[in-house]
Amino acid sequence: MNNQPPEEILKRDQNDPLATFRDRFELPDGVVYLDGNSLGALPRSAGPRLQQIMLEEWGRDLINGWSDHGWLNLNQRIGDRIAKLIGAGDDEVIIADSTTINIFKMVTSALEMRAGRKIILTEDDNFPTDLYILESVARLAGDDCIILKVPRDDLLDAIDDQTAVVVLTQVNYRTSAILDMAAITEKAHTEGALTMWDLSHSAGALPVDLNGCDVDFAVGCGYKYLNGGPGAPAYIFAAHRHQDALKPALAGWMGHSRPFDFSRQHKPADGIRRTLTGTPAILALAALEEGVKTFDGVDMYMAREKSMALTDLFIDLVEQKLTGFGIRISCPRRAEDRGNQVTFSHPQGDRLMQALIDDDVIGDFRAPETMRFGMAPLYVRYEDIWLAVKSLYNILENEIHLQPKYDERHEVT
Ligand SMILES: *Cc1c(COP(=O)(O)O)cnc(C)c1O
Repeated sequence: MNNQPPEEILKRDQNDPLATFRDRFELPDGVVYLDGNSLGALPRSAGPRLQQIMLEEWGRDLINGWSDHGWLNLNQRIGDRIAKLIGAGDDEVIIADSTTINIFKMVTSALEMRAGRKIILTEDDNFPTDLYILESVARLAGDDCIILKVPRDDLLDAIDDQTAVVVLTQVNYRTSAILDMAAITEKAHTEGALTMWDLSHSAGALPVDLNGCDVDFAVGCGYKYLNGGPGAPAYIFAAHRHQDALKPALAGWMGHSRPFDFSRQHKPADGIRRTLTGTPAILALAALEEGVKTFDGVDMYMAREKSMALTDLFIDLVEQKLTGFGIRISCPRRAEDRGNQVTFSHPQGDRLMQALIDDDVIGDFRAPETMRFGMAPLYVRYEDIWLAVKSLYNILENEIHLQPKYDERHEVT
């Protein structure tokens, strides 16, 4: 492949209506970053905002910060911003804990709302933490709960009048395949079951319409497409109609209607706040707010168009330039059927990814042989896709990945 991207690729970047949003991020020169589906890039505004909150709010105003700077409502303020990205209303989304913990909380509450039904239905290839935490729910519920894990194609048929709650991730973390949220939620409701969707790979990646699909509960990650920073707090969605019936599975003082009464009895707060547990991490919330703000003024339909074009370009280039190297396309072929990530399988995928990273093309690897490349629509360029394929071509052509330095697997992939 040539050293420079062809003119038509550079033209696509020049004509990209979202091109200027890249300026909202701090990205190192010369790096092709295709891992925003695992850790979003650093928003330029995050450093100054954290500096400000530390020195001017915490440092100067000390404990008064809770009231003077609205720290206690930060989780709801950011929740309202995320709500706009996922088709939810005001006061339906709040930031709390981690995704893992939020799944536990929401599934346990949902199970309680469907007393008499035992089955939690999920996909057998759901994200591991989702599966692990469901096992924890089942263990604590004892005889009252069974986890049913089925292949994605069998999900619709598996929902019946014994199903308490259907727990699914909209976009699969490995294959990038999208589940039909509307159809599955509708079937669940027809059978009297509830739904809980994990949006970790969908929020900020594609338009999500929770209320349009009549979803009951949802959770998701702050540090992937939402750019909230490493280990950013997660969010919870509970539809208005369920909020007052929801018994918090982990009742904590921040979910109390009057935490500062220090009452000995837990009385759940009105609305979504009852899902809170303990004191929010304000510095982490401040970073997450800057991450979510990078979507200000972004039309998610337009962002999705761009990511579909980027993933299509990646697949086309791999098909044109990398034939004969044993690379298999392992995500859905139609752009509408996949999220903002392409995945390729290769028996030496791990080595290939390490060699790519050494060449400043950052994607990631998921065992046993999947290479993932995420297209965060606000900062990935068409040029980046070409550079990534060129790098992969050079590595394969020169067998760089077979060098002994790639014998070992990294701890975090
Ligand atoms: C990334 C991810 C998580 C992560 O959960 P944490 O509690 O933040 O570690 C959960 N579910 C899915 C589907 C994910 O992709």
